[in-house]
Amino acid sequence: MDHFIYRDGMLHAEDVPVTDIASSVGTPFYVYSTATLQRHYQVFDEALAGMDHFICYAMKANSNMAVLRIMAQMGAGMDVVSGGEYARAIAAGVPGEHIVFSGVGKTREEMVLALNGGIRQFNLESEPEMRVLNEVALSLGKVAPITVRVNPDVDAKTHAKIATGKSENKFGIPIAKAREVYAEAATLKGLEVVGIDVHIGSQLTDLAPYAAAFKKVAELTETLRADGHDIRRLDLGGGLGIPYERSNEAPPLPMEYGDIVRETVGHLGCEIEIEPGRLIAGNAGLLVTSVIYRKEGEGRDFLIVDAAMNDLVRPAMYEAHHDIIPVVEPAVGVEPAKHDIVGPVCESGDTFAKERNMPPMEAGELMAFRSAGAYGAVMSSEYNSRPLIPEVLVHGDQFAVVRARPTYEEMINRDSIPDWME
Ligand SMILES: *Cc1c(COP(=O)(O)O)cnc(C)c1O
Repeated sequence: MDHFIYRDGMLHAEDVPVTDIASSVGTPFYVYSTATLQRHYQVFDEALAGMDHFICYAMKANSNMAVLRIMAQMGAGMDVVSGGEYARAIAAGVPGEHIVFSGVGKTREEMVLALNGGIRQFNLESEPEMRVLNEVALSLGKVAPITVRVNPDVDAKTHAKIATGKSENKFGIPIAKAREVYAEAATLKGLEVVGIDVHIGSQLTDLAPYAAAFKKVAELTETLRADGHDIRRLDLGGGLGIPYERSNEAPPLPMEYGDIVRETVGHLGCEIEIEPGRLIAGNAGLLVTSVIYRKEGEGRDFLIVDAAMNDLVRPAMYEAHHDIIPVVEPAVGVEPAKHDIVGPVCESGDTFAKERNMPPMEAGELMAFRSAGAYGAVMSSEYNSRPLIPEVLVHGDQFAVVRARPTYEEMINRDSIPDWME
């Protein structure tokens, strides 16, 4: 559920007509709904009720400072994957003790930053990384709380680019090797083992891979405890999918996911951590764009819009589907026709949708890409020297620009000409 609905024939973001935002900031832009973000956090919180749990928002999905502040105010921790994300989390008011550091290639500099600023735990992904963190912690006179990310070798049945839990993926250590790695961790004075971590992929639309992975983690918990490790926290990662195509997708609900967690690891008395990203932010955002031209082709018409693959790369990168709707609700009886919806960038990959049924639209009319709140703005670039598009946050009947569109000058002035040139 989200808060983007038609009212009086006009798409609204909460109580704000999307056209009001468009006139104020110009297109294209992202718009996020505060109420939807809050609701998605609450849904997870309720799904895990009865278990000791902590929700760490995976901020790589959408790391706008205003979004982070909303999450922080809800009581969420953060799952970060870089020093930059760590710095953003701190700047948004998240205490270090609520920040989990994930990622396969943490650098020494990032470790120092997090150890000095405070950290809930590092999720380690290899033995070399474990040894380096030990060294860094000792050099600072600190002890780093850690989990080891295990790779359970389950097929998440998602897009290959976002599956992470098979043995051929670069993530984590093979679960069969876990005892050995934890045994070494226990000898390292700069580390304190606090639990186990697993994350098998993103946009999962089936609970079976979760159940399989969590069962393996439950068994491993017992084994490691028998080996003398104090496994008191299980980080189960994120990855729950959202319906990108509402007419024919119904991924499992957080409640059902919560039941799987309860059934598989609920008996262990561990604190449960989860790291949802997409499910929190995805359906809390739209990308709004306007038609530049309508071009008649053979057998189909093209709608050339002012957003492009640099603004939203998911269709080009993952063959992702986004539902696309007109901002002005089509009148009853208007016949939709097949359109290709494309951006202006000089790449055939800059195609958002092929043969998509849309009501007839003309230049200047607005459309909205649904489910664009996660992995949208964060993955955007200035390819073709198209300035980053603004992000807008809505709260009830108010809206604010939470990242402004840079001017051409600002964009250009980030470059510099070396002294030796004229
Ligand atoms: C990307 C990622 C997440 C979030 O995944 P979503 O599909 O957005 O929920 C959580 N944990 C880790 C370690 C990740 O890399």
